[in-house]
Amino acid sequence: MLIFVPRETRPLETRVALDPAAVKKLVGLGADVAVESGAGMAAGHDDAAYEGAGAVVRGDRAGALAEADLVLRVRPAEVDEIRLQKAGSLASGMMDPFGARERIEAFAAAKVSALCSELIPRTTLAQKMDVLSSQANLAGYVAVSLAATRLDSILPMMMTPAGTISPAKVFIIGVGVAGLQAIATARRLGARVEAFDTRPVVEEQVKSLGAKFVKIDVGETGQTEQGYAKELTAEQIGMQRAGMAKVCASSDIVITTAKVFGRKAPTLVTAEMLAGMRAGSIVVDLAAEGGGNVVGTVCDQEVVTGNGVRIIGWGALECRVPRHASQMVAANMVNLIEHFWDKEAKDFTLKLDDEIIRGCLLTHDGKVVHERFKDPN
Ligand code: NAD
Repeated sequence: MLIFVPRETRPLETRVALDPAAVKKLVGLGADVAVESGAGMAAGHDDAAYEGAGAVVRGDRAGALAEADLVLRVRPAEVDEIRLQKAGSLASGMMDPFGARERIEAFAAAKVSALCSELIPRTTLAQKMDVLSSQANLAGYVAVSLAATRLDSILPMMMTPAGTISPAKVFIIGVGVAGLQAIATARRLGARVEAFDTRPVVEEQVKSLGAKFVKIDVGETGQTEQGYAKELTAEQIGMQRAGMAKVCASSDIVITTAKVFGRKAPTLVTAEMLAGMRAGSIVVDLAAEGGGNVVGTVCDQEVVTGNGVRIIGWGALECRVPRHASQMVAANMVNLIEHFWDKEAKDFTLKLDDEIIRGCLLTHDGKVVHERFKDPN
């Protein structure tokens, strides 16, 4: 089987779907691996490193896409490039399944079996293949480190002969994978941390990291079978905002991570709440790519409000640590491939009745097969 990794083309994208260590593993399994020339440069891996790991470096992107049995990408493919893949081949990577429907249709039309990383089931077995989790974890870390360098003060308490500096206050809204890592990172830097999530089950996790759980009673909330938060009603959002306004006003850094899978991110920090924050304070909106949790967020930009609050809206913060982000994505990819690898045939077996495949397979044999996306509306 020929596995091909094209260079990512989205602006500001720095990651690559396989790093040389992952190539070595796949070659060890008996796969042929090809990588587009320059694909790993932004993540610190030159062509020679890939060749050293056993890959063939290709300059003819279109040719390699047409020959490949499996194409691995970090970001969703362009429709024009999906058309280049041969019938019966596979594709894997993030595919933004709730975004452009044309992409799903293009995979079906090209008879490509599309394994969508965002839809990998959230089970213990599949955790090691879960790109969303591995990247959210890094994004949580980067959010805090970025905020710390932009803040006009320091995070830890310092008792010096010149006086005592009190610790910074950090408020994390949304305690999923990214939020938990943000709490842990801010705590390591010595900040006083508070956190809130609509899923009450996270209270214990927040406390175990040494942070305070902000209690806001918004009535009945819940999570889906997959562990995702359910959408709140308008009334509940109002109650939540009122409860959070006070905490925001006394915080130096606010980090929002609240996403609702498949829907626009909920607006949690309003203009009034920003107006209540001090000049020089920082808001990092990790949901910027999905519409943002903060009023005034501009995706991939930093903006300063009239009262001097800096809103950081860089999408995919994990792209700022491309070496580790690529290492994690690549490990997720290798784990998926290894799980379905037929050692005799040296090939990926698409087990259509397997729980993981059923969870993430969007298209197969010319049709859209995923339950959630079968209906074009
Ligand atoms: P996510 O990125 O979908 O959302 C981030 C957080 O924001 C979540 O905790 C969510 O509850 C919260 N949120 C949503 N709406 C909110 C609102 N209005 N106000 C405040 N908070 C809000 O979440 P995630 O990081 O993917 O994680 C969700 C859960 O799934 C976590 O418990 C995580 O540990 C679990 N998980 C399990 C697996 C697995 O078992 N394989 C993999 C990934 C995540």
